[in-house]
Formats: sequence, structure tokens, C-alpha cells
Amino acid sequence: MSLLSRSFLCLILAFAVFTPGSSAQEAPFRVLAFCSDNVEYDHVTFAKQAIQFYQELARKDHFQFDTTTHWDDMQPERLQTYKVVIWLNDSPHSDAQRRAFEQYMTHGGAWLGFHASGYNDESTQWPWFVDFLGGAVFYSNNWPPLPAKLNIDDRTHPVTKQLPASFLSPANEWYIWKPSPRLNKKKVKVLLTLDPSNYPLGLKDTLTAGDLPVVWTNTKYKMIYMNMGHGDKIFSSATQNQLFENALLWLGSKEDE
Ligand code: ZN
Repeated sequence: MSLLSRSFLCLILAFAVFTPGSSAQEAPFRVLAFCSDNVEYDHVTFAKQAIQFYQELARKDHFQFDTTTHWDDMQPERLQTYKVVIWLNDSPHSDAQRRAFEQYMTHGGAWLGFHASGYNDESTQWPWFVDFLGGAVFYSNNWPPLPAKLNIDDRTHPVTKQLPASFLSPANEWYIWKPSPRLNKKKVKVLLTLDPSNYPLGLKDTLTAGDLPVVWTNTKYKMIYMNMGHGDKIFSSATQNQLFENALLWLGSKEDE
């Protein structure tokens, strides 16, 4: 091999090893997952499985994953050491916790919320959070939990890439929102929607019609809300598990989209 071609080879190898942005170069991002163990049984079951799921991913994808059931950990000094905050089955309980979260999100934090963590009604009394969710207000749900066909609205987003156009999501309690976050066209990007062929959905409580966004982001923030999160079947779909992985990796990344 000539000196010139050897130098060229070295150059290629150096480039391959030191390309900026390769995962080996980036410091692992830190994730703090909040959950409550005194809420609805099926929401606790989900949270336990979610913690196991993300702990395994943390080893594979090289991020740091911490969990807490102490919502007073929602305070500025603690939050600022984390790139992503997850709410698995609950939301902040006190004004101080709420203010800390608002401050975290308005200063570049990232949030992944599942199922009951997005629940809000007139008793919740937290207008900032309704705005943060894109204006979505809980309206109703199906019962019992059932599987449902979901459609991907946008397969170019980092969270939905690699996913098929539609898939069967395992049994879940599905929430419908009024107003629907989709009406907030300036801020909200809906990523997954319940297929109308699922209607009527439910036996005791039945959803009969209406637009039902399942996963969306308020583009004003780095955030994803996902309606999945009820019971012990949620992690039984490889396709859906890919969605959960994509979402966390995107929130942990520096990408705006
Ligand atoms: Zn539920």
C-alpha cells in the first residue's frame, strides 16, 4: 500500500471514529420517571412494567434512568440535572411541584407523559397544564380496556419513523378529549389517532364516535403525551414498544424535530 493510500485510509478511519454526533461521543442523557404507587391498580401495574421496559432500554441505548415515587423531587435543583422527565401514572400534587415543572419545561426541559398523567378536569385547577397539553381536556373513556387499531398521522416525525401506517395497540383504557388537541393547529402535531373503525368501543362505557388523538406533541415544548398506560398488556406489541423507545430517544436528543 502506498504512503498516499495509507494516509487516506487513516483519514477515513479517523473520520469514522470521530464523527461528531455519533452515539459513542455523546454523554448519556439522564431521565427521571415519576410514578405513584397509591393510584388505580391498573395504573400501578403499567408503571411497574414501564420502569422495567425503560431500565432495559437504558442499558441498550445508553442513557441513565432513575425513578421516584416522591413528587417533592419535582423541585428546580433536582430537575435541572435531568434531560427528560416522565410521568408514568400521576401528576404533581402541590403548587410548588407544579411551579417547578412549569419552570423546567419553559427552560428547555423535556417531558413524556402517559395515560392518567394527562388527566385533567374542572377539579384539577391547573390552566397552565391544559395549555401545555395543547388545550386537551379529558372528556370520557371506554370501559373495559380494549385493544384498538391506531393510525399514524405523520410517519416522518422521529417518534413515528419505522412504524407501519397502522397497527393494533394492546388493551388500554382510551381517553377522548373535548376540546381535542387537534383543534390547536398552531401548536399541536398529532402523531397517532384511533381508527374510527374501532367504534363502538367499550361495553360498560362506550365511545361511539369522534376524533380521538392518542399521541401528540405541543410543538412549543419538547414534549410527548401518550394515552397508553392502563393494565398489564401495554408492552405486548413490538411496534408500540418501538414507539415508546423512539419517543424517549427523541426527547433525550438535541433535535427540535
Ligand atoms: Zn386508566
